Amino acid sequence: MNKQVYLDYHATTPVDPRVLDAMLPYLKDSFGNASSKTHPYGWAAREAVEKARSQVGSLLNASPGEIYFTGGATESNNISLLGAALHAPAERNHIITQSTEHHAVLDPLRKLEKEGWRLTVLNPDSEGFISAEALGNALDERTFLVSIMAANNEIGTVQPLDELGRAAAEAGALLHCDAAQAAGKIRLDVESSAISMLSLSGHKFCAPKGVGALYRRKRGNRVRLAPLALGGGQEEGIRPGTLNVPGIAGLGEACRIAAEELQEEAQRVGRLRDLLLDGIRKGIPDVTVNGPADADKKLPGNLSLSFKGVDGSALIVSLGDLAASSGSACTAGNAEPSYVLKAIGVPAELAVSTLRLGLGRFTTEEEVTYAIDRIIETVGKLRRVR
Ligand SMILES: *Cc1c(COP(=O)(O)O)cnc(C)c1O
Repeated sequence: MNKQVYLDYHATTPVDPRVLDAMLPYLKDSFGNASSKTHPYGWAAREAVEKARSQVGSLLNASPGEIYFTGGATESNNISLLGAALHAPAERNHIITQSTEHHAVLDPLRKLEKEGWRLTVLNPDSEGFISAEALGNALDERTFLVSIMAANNEIGTVQPLDELGRAAAEAGALLHCDAAQAAGKIRLDVESSAISMLSLSGHKFCAPKGVGALYRRKRGNRVRLAPLALGGGQEEGIRPGTLNVPGIAGLGEACRIAAEELQEEAQRVGRLRDLLLDGIRKGIPDVTVNGPADADKKLPGNLSLSFKGVDGSALIVSLGDLAASSGSACTAGNAEPSYVLKAIGVPAELAVSTLRLGLGRFTTEEEVTYAIDRIIETVGKLRRVR
């Protein structure tokens, strides 16, 4: 095999050809502005946006009217957390999150803390889980908001969202969920999980970069959101600016595909992930898996491995034509151990020996076999030169 093998699906994914096909008309002939009401160009664009809104809603068991298009999960997280805080009732000044969230959640929450909010940062257990009991102990009558991700971007931990949502709802708190890694990979249901706000990102599940969505609950316990940006009034003023019609059409198609193929794909990708792990383990000793031991409680395409005595950055460099990540993509290139691995108690010397492999829709068995050989060979070499 003389091409690059891509095993970094947590960082981003290739665009599915079906998604590209759904986008092309809106880059070509149907290039209209979805806000133009006086001609067919605008009508066609609006129709595409509303179709996509239904497709995103369907994937989450939400109403189309509860979906807002954004530029990605970072933006959706910021609008949710900062926008909801601006409308919080005076008697609720407490927010709960966990230490293994993405920076797109932690940084806005730290900003709120600086502005006077009380912030509780829960530490997950050694597999990355927050239990309903741990959340229950942190909740009180002043808790306004809980932000817990659906699935972790480094170790793949899938949180027990139904239980966490119930606990938050019982305390009268909102639940925000960063579902950037989970959307399109595992089943999400804003009703059964009592989710108030949810963020997702197109480029994590085979739609293009720069488009995402925000779910905001209107049914039942309606969430009030103040906009962070002003002008134009699009998306009910929550996310003003001319809509990215081709990107939105692509995101809708990605959601349609996921709704239809999620289960089958999860099985296929999960099997490849298990093959990859078995192969590596047969070839080299002293390999630890970070994250949940139970494969059903982690993302099907996730494999975070630590190789005792091997420098993670040297490993990434030596793997050459195998594209993977050391720890988190955001901290790649810096030798600090990942804060996620640290939070679940991985010793620093193992955390810096970590390879994050991400498998996905276009990963083949042939690629997995190739990756096994490359990893065994490279880890063996690096261990011998120590
Ligand atoms: C990728 C990712 C984000 C950021 O999403 P963008 O669309 O790239 O802004 C946020 N949270 C998690 C968990 C992610 O994996």
